[in-house]
Amino acid sequence: MKKTASVKTRITIWYTLLMFVLTIFVLILVSILSYRLSIDNIEKDITLQVTQISEKIAKHRINVFETVDNEKEFRNVSLYERSGKYICGQYVYDVASIEFKPGTARKETINGTSYIVYDVLCHGIPGEHGGFWIRGVESLSSTMFLKNSAIVIILVTIPVILLLTALGGYYITKKAFLPINGIINTANNISVQNDITERITIPHEAKKDELYNLSLTLNKMLDKIEILINREKQFTSDASHELRTPVSVILAQGEYMLDIAENDKQKELAQNIVDKAKQVSKLISRLLLLSRIDQKRQKFIKEKVNIGVLADIAADNLKNAASEKNITIITDISEDIIIDADETLMLSVLTNLVSNGIKYGKQDGYVHISAFSNGDKVQIMVKDNGIGIKEEDADKIWTRFYRIDNVRNDEYGSCGLGLAMVKSITELHGGTVYVKSSVGHGSEFILSFNKINP
Ligand code: ADP
Repeated sequence: MKKTASVKTRITIWYTLLMFVLTIFVLILVSILSYRLSIDNIEKDITLQVTQISEKIAKHRINVFETVDNEKEFRNVSLYERSGKYICGQYVYDVASIEFKPGTARKETINGTSYIVYDVLCHGIPGEHGGFWIRGVESLSSTMFLKNSAIVIILVTIPVILLLTALGGYYITKKAFLPINGIINTANNISVQNDITERITIPHEAKKDELYNLSLTLNKMLDKIEILINREKQFTSDASHELRTPVSVILAQGEYMLDIAENDKQKELAQNIVDKAKQVSKLISRLLLLSRIDQKRQKFIKEKVNIGVLADIAADNLKNAASEKNITIITDISEDIIIDADETLMLSVLTNLVSNGIKYGKQDGYVHISAFSNGDKVQIMVKDNGIGIKEEDADKIWTRFYRIDNVRNDEYGSCGLGLAMVKSITELHGGTVYVKSSVGHGSEFILSFNKINP
């Protein structure tokens, strides 16, 4: 499955991109507006200076530059003869070559430098026949400098703003999503450790937001589920207890009837009763064991258990069943394979697996029990060359009362609790169990336990 970025990362990326676009947009807008504004100001300033000069000249009939030389307010103005020859005032070499044009202030670029130029044609003083030009001019280089500085500022600020947005956004979303991590961890713990008592931790200082409410609601839901599961476990346990005595009575009386049966028909009927009563009695003991493990009431005495010895006992217990199908049980375990376990429970694990190997094994087949130690683990394998298990059933066979083929299994007197018991006992010992199987070729059940510390 394609790995997608976390919600935190996606939100952070989205806000950072949005911030990027917004910052670029705002900075470009601001720099365009401020550039336009400063050009407007220059144009106004130049126009004012030129107008004032022309008014002074007209009013006083004098060349103002001769009387008030270098006057600050006329710093951008100069006078030219009508032919374009410079008379006085501010002189810019490049600008002197620009053609005179009456009208409004305009932008001219010469030798790579831009200027705002404003020309006015006047008559009378300063003493030239046919009038003279007043030219106001200001270079745009300082404005361009400002514009370039703005670009540099933009280029420096954007990464800083973006970094702050990304870090801030990630930090805030990470904090906001912390309760979600709590929910995920709790769900994981419940599914991995099967511990329904686990709850989502809600810190005292947690903000009472939607995630807080979600955590509270989930905790309440888990409370309800726990009550229901416990009730169901209690029911299974109570029902099994209640059934134990009547089934023992039926079994005892069935066996008595078998003893006193006078003909084959009676024998057959009594045998049927005995077989079914044994099957129900086995089912009840398994149910009781499972519910004790579930309710953590199963007493188990851990001792050093020699797997080789247990495998031999299991093989011996099942030799009659194996011989019915001419199945060979091979035990191949060295003496040093020892684990810390409850001997009775571990024997029932091996007995169940070997018994399944026989039940679902082929005529003249084999069941092979082996074990080896691997690092700090001990692995026990029970392998058969029987009918095998379909891949889609490999996960389901551990479920209580799950039987792959109900009709076929009835022939074997199965109840679908054997492997559930194997799994529960294995996990009770801190071990794991899984199956490798191929239809028509056989199955191998692999158990793994911690090696005993010498
Ligand atoms: P059952 O009492 O039905 O044997 P189990 O829990 O022991 O219950 O097994 C569950 C199902 O898994 C069985 O019904 C059977 O179909 C399948 N199964 C178990 N062991 C083997 C095996 N060694 N080979 C093939 N199928 C198996």
